[in-house]
Amino acid sequence: MNAGLQRAIRGNSIPEPNSGCWLWEGGMTRDGYGLLSGARASIVSFTAFGGVIPSGLVLDHLCRVRCCVNPDHLEPVTVKVNTNRGLRTKLSDVQVAAIRELYSTRHFTQFSLARLFSVDQSLISLITSEKHR
Ligand SMILES: [Zn+2]
Repeated sequence: MNAGLQRAIRGNSIPEPNSGCWLWEGGMTRDGYGLLSGARASIVSFTAFGGVIPSGLVLDHLCRVRCCVNPDHLEPVTVKVNTNRGLRTKLSDVQVAAIRELYSTRHFTQFSLARLFSVDQSLISLITSEKHR
């Protein structure tokens, strides 16, 4: 815990009442991540509020809002999981449901579904092995 950093995070972000996101108002990277003194604001926030990022893991935004710095919306995951979650947002709910339905018929392999939906097979594997999005 770090009270000074916590204040800096709260002071530079606006709570969004519906999503619970803390929207960063300070500097941003070109790809839309918050910056605090040259560091990723999300990482600073997560650790300032007591979070630990195990070595080798990256912080994933569960809310998929890149400029969000709410530590409750951040989770350390492997790069592979983070990439798959990001890719999954390219598919609509309907497409995800269709992939699960088609896979359950056993007429399609993960590989053929990947070709059909123009996504990586690892993403199909993730979708078909998960109970919910
Ligand atoms: Zn958020």
